[in-house]
Amino acid sequence: MHNKTIAELAAGLRAGEFTSEELTRAFIERIKAHDDRLNSYITVTEEQALAQAREADQRIAAGTAGPLTGVPLAHKDIFCTDGVRTSCASKMLDPFIAPYDATVVRKFREAGAVMLGKTNMDEFAMGSSNETSFYGPVKNPWDLGAVPGGSSGGSAAAVAARLAPGATGTDTGGSIRQPAALCGITGLKPTYGRVSRYGMIAFASSLDQAGPMARTAEDCALMLGAMAGFDERDSTCAEQLVDDYICGLNNDLKGLRIGLPKEYFGEGLDAEVAGAVEAAVDEYKKLGAEVVEISLPNTNLAVPTYYVVAPAECSSNLSRMDGVRFGYRCEEPKDLEDLYKRSRGEGFGPEVKRRIMVGAYALSSGYYDAYYLKAQKLRHLISDDFKKAFEQVDVIMGPTAPTPAFNLGEKKDDPVAMYLADIYTIAVNLAGLPGISVPCGFVGKRPVGLQIIGNYFDEARLLNVAHKYQQATDWHLRTPEGF
Ligand code: GLN
Repeated sequence: MHNKTIAELAAGLRAGEFTSEELTRAFIERIKAHDDRLNSYITVTEEQALAQAREADQRIAAGTAGPLTGVPLAHKDIFCTDGVRTSCASKMLDPFIAPYDATVVRKFREAGAVMLGKTNMDEFAMGSSNETSFYGPVKNPWDLGAVPGGSSGGSAAAVAARLAPGATGTDTGGSIRQPAALCGITGLKPTYGRVSRYGMIAFASSLDQAGPMARTAEDCALMLGAMAGFDERDSTCAEQLVDDYICGLNNDLKGLRIGLPKEYFGEGLDAEVAGAVEAAVDEYKKLGAEVVEISLPNTNLAVPTYYVVAPAECSSNLSRMDGVRFGYRCEEPKDLEDLYKRSRGEGFGPEVKRRIMVGAYALSSGYYDAYYLKAQKLRHLISDDFKKAFEQVDVIMGPTAPTPAFNLGEKKDDPVAMYLADIYTIAVNLAGLPGISVPCGFVGKRPVGLQIIGNYFDEARLLNVAHKYQQATDWHLRTPEGF
């Protein structure tokens, strides 16, 4: 059962081949048997999951089920879940039990999906390797000596190892696409505003976006259909109708114009990753697509721009963790100032502190114009590059990450090397565009991802383009050994 996709599981449930309770139990058993090797879950909600599964079985029997009713899924531990610990993988929120559901969580619950638990991640979603988690690193199921990517590393590893058929993730600078690439699964970052951010613990509010992580594009389409839509509780959520992401999956790709940015194939790109991406582009040519070389001339500004904007916003967002209202509080504070200082000093890990300090500096008077305002201007230049490109092409393709998964510990003490892991994903967030990562090969045992970037609200096309490739190839069907 655990090898089936979400679409296959949904069909099996509907056909009465198995019940949601049986299915949920099977995944819980797999988590118990395998997750001590991976550490992909922070919390497993066994009892609630079984209760939700029984309810789903009743809905299926009554004929009132939707496409996801009875399907077990996991949520990144950044989404508030009513009555369940929501830690953001930080000591700061380790004791925090959310008093309500995030909109994304509520929508899946209402669709009848079963929550298996909460997945591990980089602390407050800051990282590219899942090594900044308070609960310890996640291992890559393809190679236990490698990182799974981050920050949605727990979701990616759990899906790759068949410990969940699908999971939610969030992507501020690449955190859905990069771990999806490193773990050999499919992950979609929607257009900014496509999915509600309500109840999703904020990292950098102008960049954060939730999206689906699953084995196939079809499964991502099913999940996105449930997640997307206007939410009056998020003022940046788009008042735009949600497309039917399933009906166009098989559209013909004849005449599709693919742009290959020359800046994405230059220095720093692993030769074997480049080879796998080029082979994928050849596959698209066979499917009738046309390939055009394009230029995104400000690509080299994306990482420095992001590392001003994201820390600036995080320093403001994380100021609410003060030891008074949420989560961790230091013991026996002498006075209010001591309470703030020690609660934050003891509660946050080193990467989070680094970001808060950089951000507070960039926002401080005298530096604001030189750093934050400048970064906002560069952000426009980066968006304009994409606007121009989309006058010429329908989608843009390139590698998701410059290298396959690196070794655990390899970049842990070198923040700049770590930041460069997102060199191809970050510009997409700065521009607010959608992007998907699709498995397209291996370097040794470690998977490679192809990134496909679309125009605003063009998720249906991205899913169609990804799905057609998956009909022609089998990279997404491979299983890591031992799982
Ligand atoms: N790796 C990037 C960072 O550390 C992106 C993280 C994310 O997308 N949440 O900020």
